[in-house]
Formats: sequence, C-alpha cells, structure tokens
Amino acid sequence: MREGTAQKISNALLSGAAGFASFVFSLSAMLYITELNEKVVASIVAGAFCLLISYIASERPNSESARALAALGDRLLAVEDGDLVSPAPPSLQKTMPKLAAAVDTLFAEVRASIENAHALGMYDPVTSLPNRLHFRSEADKLLSEAEGSRSAMLFVDLDRFKSVNDSLGHARGDQLLIMVANRLRVVVTAEFGEALQRRPLLARLAGDEFTLFFPEIQSSADVERIARRIALAIAEPFELCGHSVDIGASIGVSICPDHGSSIESLMRAADIAMYCAKSLGGGQHCLFDEQLAAEHQDKIETERALTEAVQRDEFLLTFQPQLSLVTGEIAGAEALLRWNHPRDGLRMPDTFIPIAEKTGVISDIGDWVITEVASVLGSWSREGISRRLAFNVSPRQVERADFFSRLRQSFGDQQVPLSMVELEFTESAAMEVSKAVLVEIGALRADGATISIDDFGTGYSNIARLRTMPLDRVKLDPSLIADIEHCARARVVVQAVIQLIHGVGCEIVAEAVETVAQADILRTMGCQAVQGYVFAHPMYEDEFLDWIVNANPGSRSVA
Ligand code: C2E
Ligand code: MG
Ligand code: MG
Repeated sequence: MREGTAQKISNALLSGAAGFASFVFSLSAMLYITELNEKVVASIVAGAFCLLISYIASERPNSESARALAALGDRLLAVEDGDLVSPAPPSLQKTMPKLAAAVDTLFAEVRASIENAHALGMYDPVTSLPNRLHFRSEADKLLSEAEGSRSAMLFVDLDRFKSVNDSLGHARGDQLLIMVANRLRVVVTAEFGEALQRRPLLARLAGDEFTLFFPEIQSSADVERIARRIALAIAEPFELCGHSVDIGASIGVSICPDHGSSIESLMRAADIAMYCAKSLGGGQHCLFDEQLAAEHQDKIETERALTEAVQRDEFLLTFQPQLSLVTGEIAGAEALLRWNHPRDGLRMPDTFIPIAEKTGVISDIGDWVITEVASVLGSWSREGISRRLAFNVSPRQVERADFFSRLRQSFGDQQVPLSMVELEFTESAAMEVSKAVLVEIGALRADGATISIDDFGTGYSNIARLRTMPLDRVKLDPSLIADIEHCARARVVVQAVIQLIHGVGCEIVAEAVETVAQADILRTMGCQAVQGYVFAHPMYEDEFLDWIVNANPGSRSVA
C-alpha cells in the first residue's frame, strides 16, 4: 500500500469514528441475532482494526499519532483476553481525544449489547421470569451449594390454558401468564419469609409450564403444603379484560435425594408426577413415588414395543357378535384388537391403544386392522359366510390424507363389498372431524358402508352434527346402561337418549349388556341391537364361526 493510501485510511479512521461505530453496532446486532459467541465477535472486530492500525503505524513509524495508534492496537488485542472494560490508551487520549472517546463509547456499547443479549437469552420476555436455560444453570448452582440438605422441585402445568388462548387470543393468553407468574411470586415470597431459609427459584420453562426449585426444605410435608397453596392460588378466577377466567394447576413434586440427585433427574420425576396430577383431573399436586416411576417405565417400554409390534405380527383380532333385539338374530360383529406381547402375553386394548394414539403408531396399527378385517371378510365370503363386520377407527387414522382411498383399496383387493363393513368412530372423533372427512364418510356410506358412533354419551355431543353427519347407528356407552336395572333416573336418561337417536333416524346398539334384565329393559325402550357378555364374549375367529353356527343354525349362508 502506498503512503497516500495509508494516509487516507488513517484520515478516514480519525474522521470516521461514526462509521467505525456503526460497523461495531452492526456486529453487536449480529451477535444478538445470530447468538454468536460475543467474545468471538469482539475478537473479530478487534483483530480487523488491529491489522489496519498496525499497518498505518508501520507506515508512519516516527509520528506521535502512529505510536498512539500502536497503543490502540494493543488495547484492541486485549479484547481477545476478554478485556472490554479498560479505557483507551493515554497516548491516544492525548493525541487523538476524539478517537479515544469514540473507542470508549464503542466498548461501552458493545458491553451493553452483550449484557442485553444475555438478559434476553436468560429471561422469559413475557413474564420476566428466568427461562429454562437460566433456571437449569441457577438450580444446578443452588443444588451443589445445598450440600446434602433436602431440596424440592415443583412442576406447574396450567389446566385449560389452551382453551383461554384459543378463545380469547394470544395477547390475553400472555396477560394470563403474567398474572399466573405474579401469583406464583406471591406464594414464593410468602414461603421464603415464613418457612424457608434459602431463596427459592421460580421460572417459566415453556408455554404454560412453570417450575420452582426449593434448595432447602425441612420435610416433604412442607413442599406438599406449598404445592396445595399454589393449586389454591391458581384456582382463584382471573379477571381478564372483563372476563372471569377459570384455570387450574397440575403440580408434580419431586424431592432430592429421594427421587434424584441431579437437577435433570428431579425435573424428570416432577414432570412424571405432574402428568399424574393431570390425569387425576388437574387442580391438584402429586408427589413422585416408586409406583409412578414403574408406570412411567412401563409406558416407555410399551411405546418402544408398539413401534415394532406391527412388523413382528404381534396383533390379532377377536370377534364379538351383536344380536338384534327385534328378530333375535345375529346382527353383525365387532372386530376387537388384541396384542400378543412377547413378554406380558395377551394385552387388552386399554393398556396400549391410548399410548399408540399419543405416539401416532395407531395409524400403522389401524392399517393392520383394516387389512386384517378385509382379509377375514374375503375368506368368509369365499366360504359362503356373509357377516357384516365392524371395526374401530381412531381419529388419528383419518388425519392421513389417503386413509379413505387405502381403505377402499384394501376391501377392493379382497373383493369385499362395502356393505359388509361398518366403521365405528368415537363420539368425540365424530364431533371433531373436518368437513372434508365428513364428505369421505358420506361417500363410503353411499357406497354401502355402515357408519356408527361408538361410546355415545361419554363426550360432548353437538346435536347439529348428529343431525348432519352421515350416520346409521349409535352405540350407547356402557356407563349409560350400567344402572338401568336398579335406578329409575338412569332409565329416564337412556329413554331420552334413545328417543333423540331415533329422532335423527339412527339405529341404537347397547354395549356391555351383562344381564338378561338389562336386555329386556332396552328392548322395551326401543333399542334395536345389543352386544355384551350376556350373549357372548369376544372370541377368536374359529370360536366365533362355531358360535354363530350353534347360535343360529344355517346362519353361515345367511346374508
Ligand atoms: P369399544 O369399541 O367400545 O369395544 C367394546 C368393548 O366393550 C370391548 O372391550 C368389549 O370386549 C367390551 N365389552 C363387550 N361386552 C361387554 C360386557 O358385557 N361387559 C363389559 N364390561 N365389557 C364388554 P375391548 O375389546 O377391551 O376394547 C376396548 C376398547 O378398545 C374398544 O371399545 C375400542 O375403543 C378400543 N379398540 C379395540 N379394538 C380397537 C381397534 O382395532 N382400533 C382402535 N382404534 N381401537 C380399538
Ligand atoms: Mg367399538
Ligand atoms: Mg364402545
């Protein structure tokens, strides 16, 4: 580089502190946006300017300003050792006071940006509580300082928060989170003054999840009392812009050293306990224990085993007949899934269907069921047995875009007409499916398939949907009919439901009928079909085929 160029750069540097400033500002912004390590960014800035300054200094070795610039170069290199605090060198202050002031201002700005970036990365911007990362590192510190004393972790998950967010909008949802955080702060502050010697940590982990860590507690009874206090505090209605909002808190509690000795294991245990509180209906706390740990382990193992069960061909179907209360004949049958678990033996659907639904593996299982039902119906048809077979459809299955085309393909491959097929949707699934799915269901029905709602009376029913849904049959939930023999009010309810269903033109099937007296009452009330142990338990295919021959001679050829 020629003398003139160095002079130009030197002049530009001296006169262009503003440009330098904006360059460093944009690097600071980059640091915030890209979350680059601040030391790396500061070193890049310092390094670039050092190169430039030492070049200028070497080009003008004897001038006072060159020596000052060389000192500035050293100062900038000190950034590599983390020095963002020392002022500009005195020689620079003396010869180029403006540049020295600009350098000091820039270091102050870089420090402020870094602090800001730290603050933004460590605190939840909605509630101003520490976030997950900050909580983890602070709780780790507190735990290591606790030195063998008992500590407690509380996981707080709000009940019904999603419905507030959905109905009132995210801005109101955020306001509610702030109010919840404030109520938690009040509980924590009160406890700190009353019962606790060391300050607890309160944080928002994500969404509607909060967590509290108490570094030193006297007994588990103390923590349970605090958990109850939190549940009560959150159960009080919140005034949200003219709305009174009712939510609740499900709280999981774990204790160190009983349930873990690291923050990670305590958080895992508190999380499991929180799910227990949630499954009990929310608005309460659960303390982690061995039974919860075993149940959780079992759930994880079931999840793992389920993913391989389809490939390993571990599923089978049983068949439970349905009887017509009008003609006394077999009105059809329901295919019910069983899992031949390699270790546990035969497992019933309630031990794995909810887990399969949660993980999504139900779609593969559902595919297997449909293929199997199609294959069974195909072989029955070739043997001259014509029986309509119902099977259960999980809401997760119909979410797949090609569900209906694959279903048609499966029965088409086996040359089974859709009139031999009945699809059972649970009440809540039937109420929630999209319009597009309703159109597909309508098309299946138009092509002969029977459409049923299963377990009617357990969920929330939209009467309008009941009227507009393409529907043939409604299966009453067992809980509706359990007491009809002995309870007049139960009979009144069932009678009203039967009238409603008849009103929309559907047939009624009563499920889990266990006594002849129940069947008689249901017949008098106008129920058309029953399924239950009083007539037959679910059976394997061979047993089922024998059963229908014995129950109804000649039935193998009856369509
Ligand atoms: P669901 O579809 O309502 O099936 C009826 C359940 O009631 C069956 O239990 C049946 O064995 C039982 N049951 C029948 N008669 C009686 C009785 O007289 N008394 C009592 N106490 N129970 C009776 P299972 O086979 O354990 O199935 C339970 C649930 O699992 C089914 O309820 C269904 O929701 C689900 N499920 C079964 N197979 C499948 C499947 O292939 N796919 C999906 N998605 N779910 C299935
Ligand atoms: Mg069913
Ligand atoms: Mg049912």
